[in-house]
Amino acid sequence: MADTCIFCRIISGDIPSDMVFQDGELVAFRDVNPIAPVHILVVPRRHISGLNELGEDDKRLMGRMVLTARRLAHDQGIAESGYRLVINCGPDGGQAVQHLHLHLIGGRKLDDSLG
Ligand code: AMP
Repeated sequence: MADTCIFCRIISGDIPSDMVFQDGELVAFRDVNPIAPVHILVVPRRHISGLNELGEDDKRLMGRMVLTARRLAHDQGIAESGYRLVINCGPDGGQAVQHLHLHLIGGRKLDDSLG
């Protein structure tokens, strides 16, 4: 999958990114097309196509994704002003990249609408 998946190619360093966090399990980089002053994607290194592919064994990974996003929100100075975490799933959910990722969005007042 690493050959064709754009996020796998970012993780391998094949495609440049504005990386803000990395550890053995997760990476986080700035979205190339940000919709807010802070727009960061938290991404597992392991290729998981999306929410529907998660297993029981991935509970810890998902928890870490959320806690990492929260920490990044704090580091970016938006913990108090607030932010939104979003995971799109499938065509109706608007998922464009088939590698699980959590959007951290903030730094401005976001629409009340959830779509
Ligand atoms: P989604 O619609 O949830 O699949 O979101 C995919 C996100 O990936 C979009 O917000 C894109 O702007 C972002 N994206 C696509 N290619 C890149 C890239 N090379 N570097 C950073 N973000 C990207």
